[in-house]
Amino acid sequence: MAYCRFCDRELLEKHGVLYKDKLCTAVLDRYPNSRGHTLIIPNKHHKDILTTDDKTLAHMAIVAKKISKKIEKRLGAKGFKLLVDDGKAADQSVMHLHIHIIPAYKKTVNLNGKRHKQITEKEKNLLLRKLTK
Ligand SMILES: [Zn+2]
Repeated sequence: MAYCRFCDRELLEKHGVLYKDKLCTAVLDRYPNSRGHTLIIPNKHHKDILTTDDKTLAHMAIVAKKISKKIEKRLGAKGFKLLVDDGKAADQSVMHLHIHIIPAYKKTVNLNGKRHKQITEKEKNLLLRKLTK
C-alpha cells in the first residue's frame, strides 16, 4: 500500500492525540477552521464511508459526540459542523476516512476552502491540556 498520512502513527502523535481506543483516534487538525477542530480517524485503513464496516462507522459517530461534548464544555463551543469529504470529487484530501468536528463559536464557521493558518505548538499543547482526560 502507498504511504498514508493517517496510518502514520508518528505523524498523528504530532497532530496531538485527544482520544484513542481500539477502533479510532481523535487528533487536532493541523490547519484548523476554528479552535478545537478535530479529526476522528479509524485506526485501520479505510478509504471512505462506503468501504468502512458499520461497526467502525457507528463507533466513530459515538466518539465524535463524546469529543464534541468535551469541546462544548471546555472550550465553550456553541455548535458544531460534522463533516466528511468522501471521495476525490468531494475534495477528500487524505484518502483515509476521517470525520471533521469543526466547533462553531459564533453564528457561522468559515468553510470557504481556503488554507487556514497552521496551529502553533503553544495552542496545540493548550488544547491538549483542555481536551484530554
Ligand atoms: Zn491509511
